[in-house]
Amino acid sequence: MANQVVEQLAGMRLFYNTGTAKPYSFRKEQLLKFKKTLLKYEEEIYHALYTDLGKSKEEAYASELGLVLAEINHTLKNLRNWMEPKSVQTTLVNLPSSSKIYRDSLGVVLIISPWNYPLNLLLIPLVGAIAGGNCVVLKPSELSPATSAITEKIISETFSPSYVKNFTGDGAEIVPELMNGFRFDHVFYTGSVFVGKAIYKMAAEKLIPVTLELGGKSPGIVEADANIHVTARRLVLGKFLNAGQTCIAPDYLLVHNSIKDELVKSIIKSIENFYSKDSSTSYDYGKIINERRFDKLLSFLQNGNIIYGGRHDRSKLWIEPTLIDNVPMDSPLMTEEIFGPILPIISFETMNEAVDLVQKNPNPLAFYLFTSNSNNEKLWIDKIHFGGGCMNNTAWYFANKQFPFGGVGNSGIGAYHGKHSFDVFTREKPVMKTPTWFDPGFKYPPMKGRLNFFKKFIN
Ligand code: NAD
Repeated sequence: MANQVVEQLAGMRLFYNTGTAKPYSFRKEQLLKFKKTLLKYEEEIYHALYTDLGKSKEEAYASELGLVLAEINHTLKNLRNWMEPKSVQTTLVNLPSSSKIYRDSLGVVLIISPWNYPLNLLLIPLVGAIAGGNCVVLKPSELSPATSAITEKIISETFSPSYVKNFTGDGAEIVPELMNGFRFDHVFYTGSVFVGKAIYKMAAEKLIPVTLELGGKSPGIVEADANIHVTARRLVLGKFLNAGQTCIAPDYLLVHNSIKDELVKSIIKSIENFYSKDSSTSYDYGKIINERRFDKLLSFLQNGNIIYGGRHDRSKLWIEPTLIDNVPMDSPLMTEEIFGPILPIISFETMNEAVDLVQKNPNPLAFYLFTSNSNNEKLWIDKIHFGGGCMNNTAWYFANKQFPFGGVGNSGIGAYHGKHSFDVFTREKPVMKTPTWFDPGFKYPPMKGRLNFFKKFIN
């Protein structure tokens, strides 16, 4: 097996070296083919996402397939321009040279994705890698097998295996095999901090650049002046989408004391409006990915006082949207990423108190503030280092292709989407061009006596 993998990767390198993947016309053609195959398998994609995670078609489109298609459309619209070398100013001392920045493809890149948005998080990076003129190895998660099977079908039907190749299987086995047997030119990983560190180590051995899209504890802050009704609706959507298994879900809530009771009532009302009083039969409510995660989530329920929800059924992998208060700050619920439909609600009195609570889990991937005061917004944005976020909203910022999507510190390295993906999967290559009709002697030795001249021209 190992030899076979190494041979396949060597074949990809040979293909990359032919330069076939680089011209604009090839990249465009591949993206168009890709879009066509995705649309051909639209129904199978919905079926797979329902099988793995209980997603409705609407949710599957809005949070997975639709975002991939939008990424392809946006890339097709802008790719020619992104690929154009860009002229920049030339310094005085180098005149009359001209200066351009070219965009170089990277080579053969590896994309590793998790199970929670198994289509989106595998294929949006793929769009960027194709746009960048690279050959691509894909490693989807083994924990979402139905989606992995349909993506395998889409990939093998659309692309030649020496251009884009999918490797399925246990990540703990296959990823080290891939990374030890071959030198990738970039590794793009989405998943947990724990595995992210292992990937970073393997990459460091070979000085391979990485993008790490990780997780963490993303806070939702509700100030006393927030619009309670709208806040509750938006929080419930962001938290319980995909049964809470969203990296940018609000992990926990910090609510001003004065409005806690009213907000909790409004959250409960929204939960029941969206998913009915029995979410186990709701068309709009997903399921937990597997028994292992289910058991882990149930263990969190020991950590505080359940004020709403808490019912569950292991045979259906169902855990009801659950609200918890009186949570000790040193309990696993407040020190580990929850990644499920459990929302701890903690009250605060002053902003400093709330900031201190957020700083217990620094560098969140996402940050959500609900307030009607724009000074509050500025203060919070300035105080907290977070990957990205929303004011008076949750999660939807992910859909803006103009935004660089990524974490900071503990929540990741690098960012992508739209042009930012193109930037991840290409390298800026600066080139200066100097005419030969002008070749003054002052830049050549002997230099003695030219110090003042250089002081003037090198600035
Ligand atoms: P996962 O278990 O599916 O793992 C992710 C990938 O790593 C898979 O392809 C898997 O095969 C591979 N893998 C697993 N163990 C490995 C090992 N020992 N060595 C090498 N590769 C290995 O997914 P997960 O890690 O449970 O994903 C959930 C985490 O991902 C959460 O922390 C969540 O916040 C984070 N996440 C982040 C984003 C983001 O965009 N920042 C998006 C989704 C999920």
